[in-house]
Amino acid sequence: MKYTPGPWNKTEDKLTQQYYIARPYGKSVLHIANVTKEDIGYGISEEEYHANASLIAAAPELLEACKEALEALHNLMPDERMKKANCWNPSEYEKCSCTSCKLKRVIAKAEGRV
Ligand SMILES: [Zn+2]
Repeated sequence: MKYTPGPWNKTEDKLTQQYYIARPYGKSVLHIANVTKEDIGYGISEEEYHANASLIAAAPELLEACKEALEALHNLMPDERMKKANCWNPSEYEKCSCTSCKLKRVIAKAEGRV
């Protein structure tokens, strides 16, 4: 699954009370997402509204950093059994909570594979 390459930026529109998440594109932008204030006071705080926009805007860089971290962890694994499973606990692979497995799951989620 291919996504719009980064960088993604956030810009808050005070008039419409939402953030626009977009990528610069020439003299314009490519719109990625909107983050609205609609649910503030109904389960989302003002702080969460700002944080959600920041998190979405960072998504492409987070995904790339996760892939690099997974590769770095793989290179640190001391034996072939671990490298083959790309897991620090290969015997626990299915339900593993090691950092490599967390990274694999979140990368798969971000790439629409789960
Ligand atoms: Zn693992």
